[in-house]
Amino acid sequence: MSLQERLQAAKKSGSKLHDEINDEDIVLTELGLSIAWQNVPNAKGAWAEWGCEPEDEEDYNRLLLPDRRFYIVGDQVSTLPGWQEGAMMSAEHVVELIAELKEAVVPEGVKPPNSFEVTTR
Ligand SMILES: Cc1cc2nc3c(=O)[nH]c(=O)nc-3n(C[C@H](O)[C@H](O)[C@H](O)COP(=O)(O)OP(=O)(O)OC[C@H]3O[C@@H](n4cnc5c(N)ncnc54)[C@H](O)[C@@H]3O)c2cc1C
Repeated sequence: MSLQERLQAAKKSGSKLHDEINDEDIVLTELGLSIAWQNVPNAKGAWAEWGCEPEDEEDYNRLLLPDRRFYIVGDQVSTLPGWQEGAMMSAEHVVELIAELKEAVVPEGVKPPNSFEVTTR
């Protein structure tokens, strides 16, 4: 779609939840923008794509633990990649590790989330 077509499609979908999206006094279409997240350097997508590669489990579990004094925090290292709730869950996890409220081990059976499932369903 062209930029204009994308903005119109976004407004049509968004207005099902928030009718005011159609109000040009509130949401100015001319200020709309569209980003192809897959083309953004270093990001290459809007969220971490877990659940596609055989090594995902090892990588995901590794990122849940610190490397000396370095910790990884963010929605990408949570069971809800692509969501603010996941970012907060990850922050809580790391704060608990730093405060030594829990042991730095990944419990048995922890698996990476299926990003497709949690972002599109
Ligand atoms: C298009 C889009 C739509 C979304 N819609 C929703 C939604 O409707 N609901 C929802 O819950 N979530 C949504 N999300 C996801 C949500 O935005 C993220 O889950 C959340 O912002 C992640 O928070 P974070 O703290 O993990 O990372 P971020 O918010 O990305 O924060 C990381 C910060 O670190 C900074 N940073 C990076 N590298 C460095 C460095 N070397 N030094 C210093 N600072 C650095 C970055 O500039 C950034 O400010 C959406 C995301 C996108 C991209």
